[in-house]
Amino acid sequence: MDGAIVDLDGTVYRSHTAVPGATEGIELLRDAGVDIVFVTNSSTKTREECRDRLASLGIETAVSDILTSASVTATYVTREYPTATVLAVGEPAVTDELTRAGATLTDDPAEADVLVVGKDTAFDFDTLTRCLRAIESGAAFIGTNDDRKVPTDSGLVPGAGALLAAVSYASDRDPDVVCGKPNDPIIEVSLDTLETDPADCLVIGDNPETDIEMGRRAGLTTVLVLTGLVDGSDPLLAEGPADHVIASLAEVSTVLRES
Ligand SMILES: [Mg+2]
Repeated sequence: MDGAIVDLDGTVYRSHTAVPGATEGIELLRDAGVDIVFVTNSSTKTREECRDRLASLGIETAVSDILTSASVTATYVTREYPTATVLAVGEPAVTDELTRAGATLTDDPAEADVLVVGKDTAFDFDTLTRCLRAIESGAAFIGTNDDRKVPTDSGLVPGAGALLAAVSYASDRDPDVVCGKPNDPIIEVSLDTLETDPADCLVIGDNPETDIEMGRRAGLTTVLVLTGLVDGSDPLLAEGPADHVIASLAEVSTVLRES
């Protein structure tokens, strides 16, 4: 194996603490010469914040080896719509990534060629109205990711997908593209970053619907870790949800031996 796409939340860390076995597993991969790109559907943290959190757990990595759904959306939008004016809904990480990628931003729905919707904890009726008007005036509709809900220290909170659904319902229009896992934009940017053939690449994550599905679509070897959404008693495990199922990243050497 030449490369590994490794999820963050539930795979490497949970909030600010390391998932048991994760730091060891990352070391095992690196010792085996496997290049790693860390890929998260979060659009609310900057890549620098992800790097700092990894560093605090003893995992040093370059910002360029971290992808968030916000950074992938910025890459996608500026590649597909290079001259577009963009109305962005989301936390500062979304506008930050779009600005860094060279996008022109606007607050005026009538001016927007592209509407980007990510998770926005300040999302309200006014936001929904602006989204509706941008779409009505012809903007392309791009989502960062479509996670329905996200676990936090204080319990579940709605994910970007819940906001995309509100905009879709109001405008009677599905998003043109959703950039995050398991969709094509994040797969393409991940493989471009690793410069690896899909057949020589692992995807390691805790979420069957995003991490594992992304790997399945792209022809990667899929590895489900039981440290996040799915635990060892989940009935899903009887269905063989991934090429490999391991208790934690610390067991990744068994995958490397068998791959
Ligand atoms: Mg995860």
